[in-house]
Amino acid sequence: MDVEDVRRDFKILRRNPIYLDNAATSLTPNQVVDAVNEYYFTYNANVERGVHHLSQRASEAYERVHHQVAAFFGAQDQEIIFTRNATESLNLVARGLAWRPGDKVVLSLLEHHSNFITWLRAKEKHGLELEIVRPNHEGLFDLSDFERAVDKRTRLVSIVHVSNVLGSVSPVMEIGAIAHAAGALVMVDAAQSAPHLALDVRAIDCDFMACSGHKMLGPTGTGVLYIKSEVMDRVEPLAIGGGTIQDVCIDGYQLTSPWERYEPGTPNIAGVIGLGAAVEYLQCTGMQNIRQHEEALTRQLLQGLSRLQDVEVYGPQDIEQRSSVVSFNVGRLSPHRVAAMLDEMAGIMVRSGHHCCYPLIKYLLERPRGTVRASLYLYNTAQEIEALLATLERILTMFD
Ligand code: PMP
Repeated sequence: MDVEDVRRDFKILRRNPIYLDNAATSLTPNQVVDAVNEYYFTYNANVERGVHHLSQRASEAYERVHHQVAAFFGAQDQEIIFTRNATESLNLVARGLAWRPGDKVVLSLLEHHSNFITWLRAKEKHGLELEIVRPNHEGLFDLSDFERAVDKRTRLVSIVHVSNVLGSVSPVMEIGAIAHAAGALVMVDAAQSAPHLALDVRAIDCDFMACSGHKMLGPTGTGVLYIKSEVMDRVEPLAIGGGTIQDVCIDGYQLTSPWERYEPGTPNIAGVIGLGAAVEYLQCTGMQNIRQHEEALTRQLLQGLSRLQDVEVYGPQDIEQRSSVVSFNVGRLSPHRVAAMLDEMAGIMVRSGHHCCYPLIKYLLERPRGTVRASLYLYNTAQEIEALLATLERILTMFD
């Protein structure tokens, strides 16, 4: 992978922003913007409705993306559902399963609010019991904690694959095996892993997997939910209406077959077509190449940060156990202050604060002010990491 070739595919990079906020949303390659434009310029029509040729063409393009995304994640076409974002995907499962009072759901303290407050609400509504497994301070788990937490009453284990704060990679296969052995279902929040690691839902052996299209080079307003075909009948759609129906009479209706029953109304057609181009881009570049590139940059960043005095870095030191999300704090400066200074002084975009992970931040930090988070992707360069490190050094000398 030649990073300069990659960068040429991102028109926004001609302005030379140092964009290190990829865990929030990724930049969009020209190929994705072109695919969206082509839809609007040449075959703008609704899908799965009309017999006219524009609708036929739009429907074919839309269905092709179902196939592409399914192949990308090792799923069957009908197991892939398009949503607005990972949050909607996670909520669809939390709201769609039939709960009984006393059912237990096991989560971890690494969870993003989208996989946390969703369950606090379900607990209030259905009388669920939640058990929260704690990682160590690097964000790594002891599997025996899951063995203890999962019991006969556990209906679901819902676990983040890669932490959006610590970058730690959770052993989702092993956790899934513990859950399945107890008869529980398994959901993986892959929002931070799908853009960076080659994922295969059959190898992971999960029942549900949620991710965001907009973090993997796709347009905003796109998310994905995988539901294993064997458990699909157990999940009620979030909303029903146009496009979800097999038959209706005045006193009843029959929902259509998957995936259409989960995509009510007119979907984000342009966004999904863009997501197809994004997946093609990732496949052509190669997920292994992307991982290798990110590993080198992450190593460079971790080594550089460790040389700076008064910078505290969070998450695993071992590169094998982490992704390219790196959280840190600079002396006693507030994370927002550091982030604003990085932008003002060098045009560097990072994220700061609690990263929608209040429970984790409160567990990790004495003063829960949050962290500065640099998150890398395939178009970032060694020079950009150098610029970040040099600017942090300048900030440190200013407050010496
Ligand atoms: N889970 C994790 C681990 C995330 O990092 C995020 C986004 N920061 C989400 C869920 C929610 O993703 P979205 O914004 O696409 O709903």
